[in-house]
Amino acid sequence: MNVLIVFAHPERQSLNGALLDVMISELEAQGHKVQISDLYAMQWKATVDRNDFPLLPPDERLKVAEASAQNFAAHQLTEDVQAEQEKLIWADTVILQFPLWWFGMPAILKGWVDRVYACGFAYGVGEHSNKRWGDRYGEGKMAGKRAMLVVTAGGWQEHYSQRGINGPIDDLLFPITHGVLFYPGFTVLPSFVAYRVDRFNEQQFDATAQELRERIKTIESTAPIPYRKQNNGDYIIPEMELKAGLERPNATGFALHRKE
Ligand code: FAD
Repeated sequence: MNVLIVFAHPERQSLNGALLDVMISELEAQGHKVQISDLYAMQWKATVDRNDFPLLPPDERLKVAEASAQNFAAHQLTEDVQAEQEKLIWADTVILQFPLWWFGMPAILKGWVDRVYACGFAYGVGEHSNKRWGDRYGEGKMAGKRAMLVVTAGGWQEHYSQRGINGPIDDLLFPITHGVLFYPGFTVLPSFVAYRVDRFNEQQFDATAQELRERIKTIESTAPIPYRKQNNGDYIIPEMELKAGLERPNATGFALHRKE
């Protein structure tokens, strides 16, 4: 299996860096091929601007989705973006690894998504009509590939529980797991989250590293998050609202879009 890890931490000798090493050694021990996109080491450009679209005339107003579609179709996106797209095509499994910063991913990783997920590549794929709203949420260019988040958080696990003050971790990560990953077609595995990491001692590190090794060992067989596919009959078209009566009792909000 080919595995791409997109690593978003500014310090390779960090806890995240050590957990990255754990994943690489476990994946290689299983015979998998691994590529790393170490975004800070690559000095990844995190903002979308007109320099991303070489075909855009200097005096023409920038419309990002349009310029993205045009440059993607003509294979004219910048080399750094094309290289990341090729890695995504190569990968059978993609891991996004990051420390939780302000309840989300670090800006550099968001900028990787903004630039690499071009129109025609990650969105704007398939038929868009009153009968069909594209190939997305379970379909799309990433269909057949698995993806997973590996996240470290300073807060306690309880702070991220159903009644925790930060909000449930699955809700906070939903825009990434359901939005960034499920949308272009990935099968999304439950996130690996390490809590209360800022004062980790050796024992806590070893326990977390062991848990992570176990998750990596079973990455090909772990049951995915049972998100509902858009084009499987669960949603009213074109409103894209969940049909009445399909939800579990008392389910609201993000939980509506899970089948179990
Ligand atoms: P490091 O600082 O590198 O390491 C943490 C500890 O792990 C170290 O002190 C060390 O004791 C131990 N350690 C490191 N490497 C090893 C090793 N190889 N072996 C053994 N022990 C080791 N947290 C939240 O919960 N929610 C937020 O919204 C949030 N927002 C943040 C925003 C910002 C801007 C910042 C800077 C932090 C935020 N945090 C938040 C905390 C953040 O999530 C943690 O600081 C981060 O996850 C720690 O990961 P790290 O790789 O940077 O750890």
